[in-house]
Amino acid sequence: MNPADFWQGRERYTVFDTRHGDGRRVDALIEAWRRDPARPKRLHIVALAEGLLPGLHRIPQAEDGVTLDLLSAPLDAALAQLGARIDYVRLEDVQGSAFARALARLAAGDAVLEVEDALDEEQLTALAAQGFVFDAGRRSARFASRKPRQPLPAVPPRRAIVIGAGLAGCAAAQRLCARGWQVTLVERHPQAAMEASGNLAGIFMPLLSKDDNIPTRLTRAAYLYALRYWDSIGGIGGAIEGAACGVLQLARDAGHAEASRAIAAAGSMPPEFAEWLEPPQAEALLGLPAPDGAWLFRQGGWARPGSVCAAMMAACGDRLTARFGVGSVTLDPEDGEWLVRAADGALVAQAPTVVLAGGAGSGAFPQAARLPLSALRGQVTHLDAATLPALPFVLCREAYLTPAANGVACAGATYDLDADPALRAASQQENIERLQALVSDPAAGVDAPLQGRVGFRCVAPDRLPLVGALPDFDTAGSTERLRDVPRHPGLHGLLGYASRGLIWAPLCAELLAARLENEPLPLEVSLVDALDPARFVLRARRRSNQLSGS
Ligand SMILES: Cc1cc2nc3c(=O)[nH]c(=O)nc-3n(C[C@H](O)[C@H](O)[C@H](O)COP(=O)(O)OP(=O)(O)OC[C@H]3O[C@@H](n4cnc5c(N)ncnc54)[C@H](O)[C@@H]3O)c2cc1C
Repeated sequence: MNPADFWQGRERYTVFDTRHGDGRRVDALIEAWRRDPARPKRLHIVALAEGLLPGLHRIPQAEDGVTLDLLSAPLDAALAQLGARIDYVRLEDVQGSAFARALARLAAGDAVLEVEDALDEEQLTALAAQGFVFDAGRRSARFASRKPRQPLPAVPPRRAIVIGAGLAGCAAAQRLCARGWQVTLVERHPQAAMEASGNLAGIFMPLLSKDDNIPTRLTRAAYLYALRYWDSIGGIGGAIEGAACGVLQLARDAGHAEASRAIAAAGSMPPEFAEWLEPPQAEALLGLPAPDGAWLFRQGGWARPGSVCAAMMAACGDRLTARFGVGSVTLDPEDGEWLVRAADGALVAQAPTVVLAGGAGSGAFPQAARLPLSALRGQVTHLDAATLPALPFVLCREAYLTPAANGVACAGATYDLDADPALRAASQQENIERLQALVSDPAAGVDAPLQGRVGFRCVAPDRLPLVGALPDFDTAGSTERLRDVPRHPGLHGLLGYASRGLIWAPLCAELLAARLENEPLPLEVSLVDALDPARFVLRARRRSNQLSGS
């Protein structure tokens, strides 16, 4: 028995395997899919694996038609976190029977179950009670639930407009084009990456926390996906200008060092992901004082966001139409489509689906004006690298310093509440002072000419991105659940990337595209909810209830 016996002629087919093992079975499945002329257009494989960092890992594949998600978790916990409708289940090495209910919740109406090693009576009974009907040999079953499955939302026509050609918009365009969508990418400037994504260098690294909280889990998933995704579009140092040279993050003080030691002692992270260095080790590596120790993120580094945008647009192929230099556009619904117009009213593009990826400029769209987003000014300082210690990696603490690229090192960045677009000496001074503390050299950057760049980060109050259909605040009523919040039909957002646009962009775009296509989601459902733009509708409601005492 094999998924290929059942997938013929299907639009998509999702296989869930409780044991990835050495990966040979997944390889064979993908090979069978390649060879089968009647294969489903898209094959999704989700498998439980051992030895991975916690969380779902989406592993980019050679073909756009295949997704592979690996998850290291006990079966019950894994099923509770999957956002997928499963067509074929392969059970091996399963313990207990509590998984049966969660499995039934995810199973498609005609799901097939294959049993690799015999189930015990309790497991068979639990699965049968959930609607799995076993054959005589009890090695396979068909799902025949009495409860009808909730129909999946219809996949919209595969035509979209993406507004904004920064990291967020270019990633959205690429992930949609990879799924066969025709995408019009609209940008007011004549080129991509001229606003927040226009910096010479952005750094990428994971975030750690003692309690592995939601922001940590999200940034880890985004970081790991970004590393793999960049490889798939030409690689850092290849199509993408930058270097995966490692990031050394100095501990802020003794307290931070203490907390870091506790995280390191938990022992769950492979050294290539994060390695804690005590002061002597850190100083030996850095050649400078590191009195409280440091984290070394070997796979971290820096990249020029504009080159990431270019690589993503190149990977779109001919399904992408760029409408750049059209000035600030507006957005109006008409007859089930969205019309994007230039300031003079001329139609720029029209489609049933729009992805708003306008960064700090998004609040100007009435449909996004009530989202609690703010524009946070940041100034980066460009320094003559010859005047600084030559670093083989990115160094950071409160501030960061990138290695030289074309003779320039970047130090940054400030966080300011005003809207001044011009470079200013006070911000440069702030960057220089932090740089001096970072490299323990009071002479570093002294008398540097005023050079750098100002940008505006798009930031939500919880510092997490907004991914998904935009809520309609006006009609939200007394909604209590995310799924009940009314949305602007066909209007989605990829917003609020704050200071981590490089790593958020690939995963958030993948998540949005997967949702539009009813595919298995590349993130655990609790993390998906944490990114839902409608979370702010519920929060505003709770706040107003508290204020009114109800
Ligand atoms: C100083 C500074 C330092 C940073 N450092 C890092 C770092 O080290 N690492 C990291 O990962 N991130 C960093 N960031 C954050 C990162 O730059 C952003 O998260 C990312 O660039 C956001 O991408 P975006 O596509 O959402 O926004 P943007 O790049 O701003 O793109 C939005 C696009 O939408 C267009 N647009 C908006 N409104 C309209 C309209 N009405 N009509 C037409 N077009 C419109 C804009 O012109 C713009 O091109 C930094 C940001 C700043 C400001």
